[in-house]
Amino acid sequence: MNDASYLPLFLQLRDRPCLVVGGGSVAARKVDALLTVGARVTVVAPGLCPALTAAAADGRVVHHARQFVEADVDGQLLCVSATDDNATNRRVAAAAWAAGRLANVVDDTALSAAIFPSIVRRGELTVAISTGGAAPVLARFVRARIETLLSDSLGELVALAARWRQRVQTSLANFGARRRLWERVLADDSAVLRALEAGRPDAAETAMGVALDAAGHGADAGHVSLVGAGPGDPSLLTLRALRALQGADVVLHDRLVSPLILDLARRDATREDVGKLTGADHAAAQAAINQRLVELAGQGLRVVRLKGGDPFIFGRGAEELAALREHGIEFDIVPGITAALGCAAYAGVPLTQRAVAQQVTLVTAHCARSMDRLDWPLLAQAQHTTVFYMGVGHAGLIESRLLAGGRDPSTPVAIIERGTMPDQRITRTTLSGLGATVMDQRVQAPALIVVGEVAAAASAFPWFGTLAGATGETGTAGGRLIAAA
Ligand code: SAH
Repeated sequence: MNDASYLPLFLQLRDRPCLVVGGGSVAARKVDALLTVGARVTVVAPGLCPALTAAAADGRVVHHARQFVEADVDGQLLCVSATDDNATNRRVAAAAWAAGRLANVVDDTALSAAIFPSIVRRGELTVAISTGGAAPVLARFVRARIETLLSDSLGELVALAARWRQRVQTSLANFGARRRLWERVLADDSAVLRALEAGRPDAAETAMGVALDAAGHGADAGHVSLVGAGPGDPSLLTLRALRALQGADVVLHDRLVSPLILDLARRDATREDVGKLTGADHAAAQAAINQRLVELAGQGLRVVRLKGGDPFIFGRGAEELAALREHGIEFDIVPGITAALGCAAYAGVPLTQRAVAQQVTLVTAHCARSMDRLDWPLLAQAQHTTVFYMGVGHAGLIESRLLAGGRDPSTPVAIIERGTMPDQRITRTTLSGLGATVMDQRVQAPALIVVGEVAAAASAFPWFGTLAGATGETGTAGGRLIAAA
């Protein structure tokens, strides 16, 4: 059996012939499920339990009081065998199989082409759960959890949506506008749902009308969400980031953003890697990104501009924002966990610590010229943590500037590559060994250089990934820690 051995399908069985072999209480439950969806049920069994006797008596099922014969499967869409006799069950399955019918044998997945899932229903909203017969109890747990998640009023909401579908279709020509309207109306905080939950169907209708009106009045304008994707681990996304991704028409992302995070965007969303635009000329590349944002929002699309970490920390978020403002484009900003915070946590390094570090500074070491403007004497103070972003190429310069500023050569340093990702690597060294370590260990971007007394903790409390040598694990499957000092 591979990972996905069953294809979930919803069968429309209204007025379709279905066979149930067996007359006991298990058969009765299957008959009940089939009658609920309007199937025409024939029961074959020498005798019937009271529930089935009643169903046969008032004509809800046709009953043949005898043993199963192969010809019973003829013309049946679905053949259910619910007897406690294995031989009969096998015969039903074989006959159904031979005739190209769907067979279900209760409690025997090997004989079943179709199985009955656990079901959560809210009107036409149906959630079906299956473990492929492997762990029915788990399916029940999941079902119980979903039961509590879904408001009782969702069924009414679905019915309301069905009633309004045609009107919405006529009023809003634009597909995107329709989708946005439905997303607003069906959201779990929508005025329509709240009214239904309060038992006020009239108010729900009114709210639906208001929402449609608003959608019709040029609510077609595009929108840009400037979203921080965090340092890499998808579970570090904020709920708001996730919501923005799930509502996006287009996602413009940096090269650093992990594919796992992009997978969380709406399935139909277009993904554009604008990292590709970044060439030697950063200003031109940024202008091209700004222009693309304006262009897409101008088409009425919902754009997510997805940036690594936080959009306002060394992310040129402000420049993109200025372009949006200039063109009157609606926007919102979703903060993300910046690399320094994510990597520090995943490396077990507290960036501040009572009596060890009272200040922390985030610094870009992207270009030598901007580094000239840094306050090196401040960064060189003891009990001060400095986190250098984009510093791999200038590690030697960082080392010499800090030493020249008077920082102790033995100050601990942690270099964190691909922080929060499965192949995170931590290298410990000291300030005087920084430049050489970056070379020797072939440190690659994206990496952070954390300088300060607190960096010593990187080897003291690792919790994420494994220590090289400590567990015998090798390779890049877990985080690695190298103590170069
Ligand atoms: N806006 C981003 C930073 C963009 S600058 C943020 O808030 O994190 C890009 C730099 O961030 C990289 O060169 C690297 O120094 C750092 N960085 C981003 N993700 C990282 C990660 N997972 N591990 C280590 N450093 C990372």
